[in-house]
Amino acid sequence: MMKIRFAFPLAAALVIAPVGSLAAQARDTTLAGFPALASEFVFTSLAFSPASATQAGLHDWTDPFTGRRAHLDSLLDNFSPDAIAKQRAYFMRVQSRLGAIDRAHLDAQTQADYDVVANAAAFALFGLTKERFHQFKPQMYAEDLGNSLFANISLEYADKNTRAADLTARVARVPGFLAIARRNLRATNEIYTRVSLEETDGVSSLVKSMGADFTRGTPSQARYARVAPPAIAALAEYQRFIKDTLSRRGTVDWRSGVGLFNAKWKYSLAVSLTPSEELRIAEDSMRNTRAEMLSLARPLHDKWFPTHRHTGDSTAVLNAIVSETLARIGAEHANRDSLLQQAKSDVAALTRVVRDQRTVSLDSFPNLQVIPTPEFMRGVYGVAGAVFAPPLNPHLATFYWVTPIPAAWTAERADSKLREYNTYKMLDLTMHEGIPGHVVQGAYANLLTPDWRRLLRSVYSNTPYVEGWAVYGEHVMMYDAHVDGGDPVKMKLTDLKGMLRIYTNVIIDIRLHTRNMPGDSAVAFMMRDAFQERPEAEAKLQRAQLDYVQLNAYFAGVEEWTRLRQDVQKRDGKDFNLCRYHDTVLLYGALPVPAIRRLYMAGIAPTAKGLASRCERPSAANGR
Ligand SMILES: [Zn+2]
Repeated sequence: MMKIRFAFPLAAALVIAPVGSLAAQARDTTLAGFPALASEFVFTSLAFSPASATQAGLHDWTDPFTGRRAHLDSLLDNFSPDAIAKQRAYFMRVQSRLGAIDRAHLDAQTQADYDVVANAAAFALFGLTKERFHQFKPQMYAEDLGNSLFANISLEYADKNTRAADLTARVARVPGFLAIARRNLRATNEIYTRVSLEETDGVSSLVKSMGADFTRGTPSQARYARVAPPAIAALAEYQRFIKDTLSRRGTVDWRSGVGLFNAKWKYSLAVSLTPSEELRIAEDSMRNTRAEMLSLARPLHDKWFPTHRHTGDSTAVLNAIVSETLARIGAEHANRDSLLQQAKSDVAALTRVVRDQRTVSLDSFPNLQVIPTPEFMRGVYGVAGAVFAPPLNPHLATFYWVTPIPAAWTAERADSKLREYNTYKMLDLTMHEGIPGHVVQGAYANLLTPDWRRLLRSVYSNTPYVEGWAVYGEHVMMYDAHVDGGDPVKMKLTDLKGMLRIYTNVIIDIRLHTRNMPGDSAVAFMMRDAFQERPEAEAKLQRAQLDYVQLNAYFAGVEEWTRLRQDVQKRDGKDFNLCRYHDTVLLYGALPVPAIRRLYMAGIAPTAKGLASRCERPSAANGR
């Protein structure tokens, strides 16, 4: 799914209140004042990053401190030292205002919100003062710029003329934005350099062609034609700077090291297990899963390839048997023109399962549209993805995009993609992105009340909650519901191959960043133990080298969800009602799962608008 990225730059200047008025602020933030603080925090921190604000649906903003109005869609993120200092001051002030609130006197739900704000402020300060990507990652500026400009083109937040004018205003700011980048950056490395040069090329071609196409025929066309060439020249200059100047300024290790890794782990995942514990569990799961795959694959293999004799060490035998079996399963696929059709019929079938088996109460998703991925997004979404309505406009459509196979592809190339995204894999993907995964979770998150709480928990949603829920949906919930595409063994093997990828991500991320695993060992490991082809493994290595901790969210999340359900089931015994459990945890919104556990175990009711429960009515299939 698409998630808002926070780069924490300052857009509209904030005037920091003098010390004298700080005390007044603190007095203001009594228990009753917390909701006001929380929503001020959401809007102010969003406004720090116009790129994120456009995505979240915040377009115009009046600074609560200065009364100054800003049209965020026409601004770029501001990484100037002055802007960063103002941001730091704001987040520190939020910390002191939180410090003045007696958390123990808040109700349990508000305590969870308090923790979200506290964590977000601490994470922002970590980014600005410890991690400091703005000083060490040249690619960050290219990505931030690309996202900003692309948002004007791709998000239909206003009519085309307005968005063309916004885009033109942003393009006019590109030279200034890159001048700040050149001043901020202190070091790079080979990988950052390579990726930032590529990504800057991408931004350049966006300005040159996509932006020109988008503004053509609008009142901004002439102005765009004037501002684009200086922007393109500044991008070329930025590339020369990265190659010639920055590489001489200094080198930065792409490995984060234990200190940064553990700190980011705490802020960005907020799960109960440590990296070492997750690593151990992932390595055990990996071994067990491979053994399970062998025992599932062997009978199929022996039936399909009766003449095969596999010899060698046990790893080679296992790999041969399992990969031949997976390849044969891959032969069952939609044809090149019917991927979208399969996704639509899978959505319909999964909606029926959710309804008939009463896994959750919500069983219709009128805002969901299953459509082909828009053409200009197909580079980002190679296969499929769920794209939500912006948190500030929750009534807009949620899309499940499915990327068609280009007509220009040869039969061979099309076939290779179709074998990978075969019938079972596509069903699995629709469970994850759609039902009961992201689409269901997103629909529940929209029901939260009051509105400040809904906004806080969706703008600052916890990734392990969100991604872990989707993996729990495919790996546990739909498995229990016997959704198997007509063949439980083929479905299970497909699911387990996906789980291997999730374990692998954890293992390489932790080992690369904190235990000096060599890059080529990571590639060899992915190819040998997780049935990955070299290009896929190399792409994953690069992704791990560009950022740390992120790759853990899926596993850390599904681990939390699985344990929570087991513990609740154990506690409640025969009173356990799966549907009621799912409704409750979804209606809490995307808090860190340990917070969900605290609320659930204490019997705290979610605060949400009406959802008719279907959990109590008898159901033929409710046999567990
Ligand atoms: Zn996902």
